[in-house]
Amino acid sequence: MIDVAEAYVSVDYDHCSYCGACVAVCPPDCITLHDATLMIDTAACTLCRRCLPACPTGALSIVEADA
Ligand code: SF4
Ligand code: SF4
Repeated sequence: MIDVAEAYVSVDYDHCSYCGACVAVCPPDCITLHDATLMIDTAACTLCRRCLPACPTGALSIVEADA
């Protein structure tokens, strides 16, 4: 298990097409998309990982902070 406090979802903006697919699958609705700005509320993210396979461009990843 990954400690929520030590990991977060990262967006590779070079690959994000702003399609909104990740927004639609996020259970706590912590991803917001406005025009060409994608924001993830990391405090609300539960690291459920549903957004990762939903992304058609592979722009999302889980980053684990250094211990
Ligand atoms: S890991 Fe889960 S809770 Fe976190 S942004 Fe992705 S879908 Fe939302
Ligand atoms: S699913 Fe991927 S490409 Fe689509 S808005 Fe989310 S991060 Fe960007």
